Amino acid sequence: MGKELINWENGRWIGQTLEVENGVCAVPSTPEGELEYTDAVKAATDHLYKDVADFIPEFEWPAYAPLVHAINTLKKQKNAVILAHNYMTPDIFGLIGDYTGDSLGLAIEATKTDAEIIIQGGVHFMAETSKILCPNKRVFIPSMRAGCSLASSITGEDIKLIKQRYPGIPVVTYVNTSADVKAESDICCTSSNAVAIVEHICAEWGVNKVIMLPDEFLAKNVAKQTNIEVIAWHGRCEVHARFSAQDVRDMREAHPGVVVLAHPECPPEVVAESDFTGSTKAMSDYVSDNSPKNVILLTECSMSDNVAMENPDVDFVRPCNLCPHMKRITLENIYECLKDETNEVLVPEDQRVRAYKAVMDMINVKFDPVKGHFDPSLPQVGVKVI
Ligand code: SF4
Repeated sequence: MGKELINWENGRWIGQTLEVENGVCAVPSTPEGELEYTDAVKAATDHLYKDVADFIPEFEWPAYAPLVHAINTLKKQKNAVILAHNYMTPDIFGLIGDYTGDSLGLAIEATKTDAEIIIQGGVHFMAETSKILCPNKRVFIPSMRAGCSLASSITGEDIKLIKQRYPGIPVVTYVNTSADVKAESDICCTSSNAVAIVEHICAEWGVNKVIMLPDEFLAKNVAKQTNIEVIAWHGRCEVHARFSAQDVRDMREAHPGVVVLAHPECPPEVVAESDFTGSTKAMSDYVSDNSPKNVILLTECSMSDNVAMENPDVDFVRPCNLCPHMKRITLENIYECLKDETNEVLVPEDQRVRAYKAVMDMINVKFDPVKGHFDPSLPQVGVKVI
C-alpha cells in the first residue's frame, strides 16, 4: 500500500494533512492536530485575544486558541450556533457565543436563527426551553450534569399536588424549571417580568392570590412590589441565596461609594441593602447606562467578567459566588459536543406543547421593563412558604 496523504474524512479535518503508511495513520487517529496552536490557528485567532486579555494570561492563549478556532470552524460546517448565558466564562461568552444574554433572551434568539443545531452554553433547563420553543432544531448541552438547584427543587408531580390543594389559584412558574414543571404551570415568568406576570394572571383569573415557584426569595421580593398575595415554594438558587445583608454592609465599608446591584434571587434583606435590584439584563443595562465608578454585582462570578468586557472604564469589585452547574460547561466539552453531536436534549411532544403554551403566554404579556426593577425601600410583607 505504501505511503499516502489524506485529509480527515467527512469534511471535519481542516488542519494539517495526515500521513498514512500501510493503512496506519502517522498521527493519532483522532484529529488531535485540529487542537494544535499552528501558524494557521494563530493567524485565525490572534485578533480575538484582545477581547479576553483581562481574563486569560497571554502565555495561556495557545491552549485556548485551537479550541476556539476548531469550534468556530465546526459551527460553520454544521450550521450550528452557540447560545452563551451571562454566567458563562469570558472565553465562551466573548469568543464563541453567537448569542449572549439571559436564558429567555437566548431561547427567543434561538427561534430566529436559521441554524439547524443549537449548542446551549448554560444549564439543562435552558436547553429544554430552547427545545420547547424550537422543536425542529436539534438542541445539545455540553454536559448533562449542568443542572440547577432551583430547577431540581420541584417536579411536575409537585405542581399537580399543589393545584389539588389550592384550586382556583394560578401557578406562576419561573423559567428556571424543567419542561415537566412548565407543562403543569398556568404561565411562566422571568426575573424581568415576574411582577407584571403575577398581576396579569390574577387579573385574568379574577383573583388576588397567586402561587409563585420555585424560588422562595424571588417570590418574596415580588410580593413587596404588588398588592397580590403570594404563596411561595421553598426552592433557592444556591448562588444568590448565599449573599447576606451583612455582606453588603461589609462591602460598603471596605469600598466607600461603591454601587451595589443585586439579583432578585437574593434574600429580601440583601435587596433592601442594595442600590438596585433587577434581572441579569437589567443589571448589565444599569452599568452601561450609568457607568458607575465602581460597582458590585451580587450574582454569579462570570457575570461581572462579561459586563466588565463591555464596560472597560468601570471598576468591578468582585465578591461573587460561582455556580458549579454553569461551570460544568467548558470550551473542551463544547468542542466535543459539537464535533460528536452528543447530549441531545429532547422533550416529549405532549409535554413540550403544554410547556410551550406557558412560555408563550408569558412572552405575549407586554410589560414595562422599568417596572421589573425592585424598589429596595419597600417594606417586607409576609409570604406563606409551602
Ligand atoms: S445561578 Fe442559581 S438559578 Fe442559575 S443555574 Fe446556578 S443554581 Fe440555578
